[in-house]
Amino acid sequence: MLYRVARGLLTRLLFVLLVALAVVVFARQFTDFDSDDDISEAPAVTGPRIGRDHWHAAYQVFVCGQRQPDFALWQGGIHTHDDGIIHIHPVLPSEEDSGARLVKWFEYGGGKLTQSEVRMPGSREEYKNGDECPDGSEAVLQVFVNGERLEDWSEYIPQDGDRIQIEFGEGSAD
Ligand SMILES: [Zn+2]
Ligand SMILES: [Zn+2]
Repeated sequence: MLYRVARGLLTRLLFVLLVALAVVVFARQFTDFDSDDDISEAPAVTGPRIGRDHWHAAYQVFVCGQRQPDFALWQGGIHTHDDGIIHIHPVLPSEEDSGARLVKWFEYGGGKLTQSEVRMPGSREEYKNGDECPDGSEAVLQVFVNGERLEDWSEYIPQDGDRIQIEFGEGSAD
């Protein structure tokens, strides 16, 4: 009787040990596989680099449905030429990667772009969410890239060939 109980316990213990071992082996394989994956698929640099990249992204700005003039030329690696194009070819380390964000491009030109307000380079006029358009509608700032509305454009780095639309106007506008 005692022997039977002991054998039953031993069998159960062995079973638990085997299961534990299997879990450890599986977990280790899974972890190894995962870390190998991370190394081989580490994302490439998403931002532009000095001497390597010269990117162009077209942009248009609308305020209350009115197309705004292209911004005038300014200097630096992240600039424009009064041509409706964002030129991205960093010349300073500070212009690489996140230094080439859309919001930085505005800043380099003397303007300002946040999630809720915009001031065009070369202008003093600020447009803020909630301001009214001439037709009395409440305006909001939106940014579209290749037709898709961005939820947050603070980290967005224009990529070569992107088409950017910055709209200050009715929320449903597209
Ligand atoms: Zn260029
Ligand atoms: Zn240029």
